[in-house]
Parts: sequence; C-alpha cells; structure tokens
Amino acid sequence: MAWTRFGKKKDMPGGLWIKCESCGAMLFRKEFEQRHRVCATCGYHFTLPARERIALTADPGSFEEMWIPLRAHDVLEFHDRVPYGEKLIATKAKTGEADAMVTGTATIKGIPCALGVMNFQFLGGSMGMVVGEKIALLCEHAAEKKLPVVLFACSGGARMHEGAVSLMQMAKTCGALQRLHQQGMVSISVMTHPTTGGVTASFASVCDLLLAEPGALIGFAGPRVIATTIKKELPKGFQRAEFLLEKGQIDRIVQRAAMRDELGRLLAYATGRDPVAAFKPQPVAAEAETAAPPPPAEVAEKPRRKQKAKKG
Ligand SMILES: [Zn+2]
Repeated sequence: MAWTRFGKKKDMPGGLWIKCESCGAMLFRKEFEQRHRVCATCGYHFTLPARERIALTADPGSFEEMWIPLRAHDVLEFHDRVPYGEKLIATKAKTGEADAMVTGTATIKGIPCALGVMNFQFLGGSMGMVVGEKIALLCEHAAEKKLPVVLFACSGGARMHEGAVSLMQMAKTCGALQRLHQQGMVSISVMTHPTTGGVTASFASVCDLLLAEPGALIGFAGPRVIATTIKKELPKGFQRAEFLLEKGQIDRIVQRAAMRDELGRLLAYATGRDPVAAFKPQPVAAEAETAAPPPPAEVAEKPRRKQKAKKG
C-alpha cells in the first residue's frame, strides 16, 4: 500500500525529502537547507528565497531594510483568473513579502554596500513598479552615501499584470544605474537561476560586474521560443551561465558557498580597499558541518591561485 504512494515522487511524506531537478537524487530537506539549497550530488543551485540569500550574503545582523512600505497598485485593473489586486494580497499573505524585491544597506565582509535581492517566491520574481522603484531608490541612496550596489536577480521577467508600467521599469532601473555609474560608484549584478525576460534585458545585464551562479538559466526569451522562431537546434548548454561565460556575456561564475567571499573581494577592489586584507576565508558555519561542495567552476579557481601566489 505504502509503496504505491511513494511511486508518485511528489508525494514524499511531510516534505522531508526533495528531488533534485537536475540529477534526480533524493535530498534530505534539513541537510539540503544547511547546504543553502545546493544539491550535494550534482551541485545544482536551486532558487534561494530572498531572506535566505540576505542571511548568506550580508554580515550577520548588518542588513537594514529600506522602503518596506512600498506597495504595488492595480493601475490597469488587470484580471486573469483573479484580479491583480486580490492576487497581490494573497501572495503577500503566503510569502510574508510585500513585493518581489528586498532592498537595504548591509556590510559584506565588513564593507558597507547597498543590497537588493529579488524574491522568486513573489509572483515569479516579476518586475513591476515596486521592484523598479526600489532599485532606483537604492541607486540614489548609494550615490548619496557613496556605496557600491549589489543586486541579486532572480526573475521570470516583467510583470504582465502591470503592462507598460512594468516595462517602464527596464528604462528606469537602467537610468538609475547609469546615474550611479556617472557618480563613480560601482554596481555588481549576480544573476541566479532563473534570470529571464525584462530583468535580463535591463538592470541585471548593465551593472559594472556581472556574476552568475553555476547552471543559472539567463536569457530574454525562453529556449523553446527561440528554437521555434529560428527553426534551428540550439547548442548544448544554451542560455546557461557556463555558456554565457564562454561567450563573454558574464564575467565570472561563483559557487553559492563562495559568493560572500567573492563579493567581499570585489567590493574591496571597487572601494579602493586592499582586497587581500579584506579577504579572510571563513567557511560558512553550516557548510563546515556537511560534505564539501562539488569542485568549483574553472573561473572560480582563478582568485585562489592569486591568493596562494601572494602568500608565497
Ligand atoms: Zn542534483
């Protein structure tokens, strides 16, 4: 009796186990969460909720959230299955978040910065008026306080419920980042799985440094749409972070476990600090308890070599 129930893999008891979307391995949820949602078998990086991302990236207790009261309005009185206004209320109740972007200031490896993190759990991390406004405000605040900006993208694209208003956020966020750039401040974009549509086509791609997590899907239109349009078979690994690194669209792939250290090092460069002094390798507490993560991508090894050279 019991095994017929287990035959349906989605029905694992109590959500104790999770099936890896990439290799199919069964992962024990507690260990999986301790590994910050990275598969222990194949290294697949699952989508990370915004609050977990902030806890992993910012120095403990350093994040101060800003612009919490911002709320989206149903300007078009948009209806799909339920009116947009009702959907916003229901999603807020479900996720505890007001919209798909969490912004504020923090320190990363002791370096102050402005931090914005997208939340895929909120309507697929779609970019609407609140996401755009928060990014613009974050850039203005960073320019005023002379802070570098770090943005984590994770999105299905522009929010269709807001129509042209959501598309306007593409220009708005790019404009805000350009003004930040003109004032001499550095911006770093980290594209995580998935970063697609209007987010890829705007702020996620125009920062000074473009990082990505391993295996992240990054693109504008989906691969199936492109294959159907051009009537050609797409190359292997199309729109994945590794493919884009090879083509020069992104600068570096960084493992989730190494992201805080890597951002610390880049922020040290960006703010004229000594990157070696700023960089003290500190394994994330939870990771020391679990198995070592899979070997990092080739590019991620480069800084290590540098470090060794400097020590020797
Ligand atoms: Zn896996």
